[in-house]
Amino acid sequence: MRRLANFLNVDGIDLKRTLVNVSHCRNCGRALNVYKMRMIGGPRKGSWTTITEPCDCSFSQQALQEADRIKRERFYELSTINDALKQATLKNFSAQNASQIHAVEHAVEFVEKIGENKPARMFYYGKPGLGKSHLAVGISKLLDQKYHKTCLFIDVPALKLIFKSTWTKESTLTERDLMTFIADADLLILDDVGAEGITPWSKELMFAILNARLSKSLLVTTNRSISELDLDYGPKIIDRFLENMSKADLVHLDGDYSYRLARFIEDDEQ
Ligand SMILES: [Zn+2]
Repeated sequence: MRRLANFLNVDGIDLKRTLVNVSHCRNCGRALNVYKMRMIGGPRKGSWTTITEPCDCSFSQQALQEADRIKRERFYELSTINDALKQATLKNFSAQNASQIHAVEHAVEFVEKIGENKPARMFYYGKPGLGKSHLAVGISKLLDQKYHKTCLFIDVPALKLIFKSTWTKESTLTERDLMTFIADADLLILDDVGAEGITPWSKELMFAILNARLSKSLLVTTNRSISELDLDYGPKIIDRFLENMSKADLVHLDGDYSYRLARFIEDDEQ
């Protein structure tokens, strides 16, 4: 009530008021008093006006939306998207061949599935320079903008550095926090899998990450073939990568066209 009084004072309205009606909040349906009051200042001084008391739910909804926005921003800040890819969207992806058109179609289906709160998993694989990372960033942007989903994009070759940075005293993030973000994201994107210099430590970390994502949405991009990844990681990890996936979720990009060369801003893969 204090807030209402302040609000009314600012607007130059006489605080003596008469209850004239009851209306209902459009958001939550709560009954809200409607008062008739006389203006004591401003151009309409002396005239009568009706005021509906504000509903608290609009404040809490705004707070929820704001908290949601901050959360998505936090995931974006933690993502390791290089500068060349920051402008990438599905709209500005230029598909040059059938496999790239096919890949964009899959991207749209993938986004819609997650938008409907169904877990979706997909691999983009094929030679470097065909725009796999561009598509992955585009997917994360569309999910953020259209469905307000949180996406975590991890440049896998930088994974070691990302985790090592949590070991320093200055880090505000612990390794466990990072794993929580990895587990909680609506979508985890592992970009350039297989290019990280695979060691027993990195394998163990990958296994932990994939375990944290069981039955959750996952997007992988890789320059390696699935059988090469099988050799790199071994059956235990490959099994986790391919969990809940069908052949249709393995999307191959191919062609001689170099996406990076053509656009020249692309630096997504080595
Ligand atoms: Zn309300």
